[in-house]
Amino acid sequence: MHTQGNTIDFDTARIKLGSSLKTNTARRAAVQQGAQFEQIQQKLLRNLQTTLEVDSVLSQFYQGLRELLQIDGLEYQHNADPNAFCVGQSGVHRCSYRVSHQGNYLGELQFSRKQRFDEKELLAIETLLGTLLFPLRNALMYREALACALNDALTGVGNRLALNQNLERDIRQSHRNQQPLALLVLDIDHFKQVNDRYGHAYGDAALKAVVNCISDSLRSVDGLYRLGGEEFVVLLNTTTLEAGRMVAERIRESVEHMQFELDGQPIPLTVSIGLATMRTDDTVKSLINRGDLLMYQAKHDGRNQVTDEGQWRQGKSN
Ligand code: GH3
Ligand code: MG
Ligand code: MG
Repeated sequence: MHTQGNTIDFDTARIKLGSSLKTNTARRAAVQQGAQFEQIQQKLLRNLQTTLEVDSVLSQFYQGLRELLQIDGLEYQHNADPNAFCVGQSGVHRCSYRVSHQGNYLGELQFSRKQRFDEKELLAIETLLGTLLFPLRNALMYREALACALNDALTGVGNRLALNQNLERDIRQSHRNQQPLALLVLDIDHFKQVNDRYGHAYGDAALKAVVNCISDSLRSVDGLYRLGGEEFVVLLNTTTLEAGRMVAERIRESVEHMQFELDGQPIPLTVSIGLATMRTDDTVKSLINRGDLLMYQAKHDGRNQVTDEGQWRQGKSN
């Protein structure tokens, strides 16, 4: 495996390029690149301004670069981001760049292909990287802003805005595909006591522990959202009432059996859960409201339990 590593910082890139231009080959190459290079660079600049999506920025860059030289694959990784960008095929010869701007890390790019990269090609890549930097930085900032707007800062799960958006989409999809949809509203029992007894900071730690416990009981396709305070919603797509009952009960049990300690003392935590299933005339609001009412019914019936519509109707008619 041949990897040619490089660290590019936008501010120093020009200096670096200046020094590499000292070699005869590179100087000759730069002259040859001339008009065609500038044309591609201008086109790329225009294209890169049309998007704020990281993947799209990288795709555009890859296409632009391929107009200039033979590249078989591009991989991009940003910190431990599990969704690394990958396009084309990875080849034996690689050159990689750790990209940063004014000390801000922008990720690592790895170009690969079957043949070795020569000096002229490395120069072209490095020059074109200058075109990528600002659009990539903007796209990363946009992605972070979106994540802040849709995620709860304390627990990291989706917030109410994310819930509204996703539930609206899921209701539409379920109607279209005539598939069931279940929704759980969960509220931690006697949570005020945890805060009162141990303080708000420990209360926050308890909240996070409950969120982790709920997440561990869910499939990756299920959605967990913080509705506010110590109240959460779980969206279960393509899930019937019976299947929803099993999930809700699994969550209830795992929170009850969670070993959570504060200052060495075990803190018992439980949740009350309302389980609602979608009806044909349901909206985001009506479905959440029903789940909420059912959750309050579970509180009323003694907490640490699951209430669903079937049980509720049965209870009322008894
Ligand atoms: P119930 O079983 O009826 O739900 O009782 P409860 O004490 O959980 O209910 P209540 O609504 O009276 O209290 C909720 C508490 O949750 C009050 C508030 O201090 C706490 N809380 C809400 N959000 C947060 C938070 O972000 N951090 C911490 N530490 N506490 C929070
Ligand atoms: Mg509560
Ligand atoms: Mg509450």
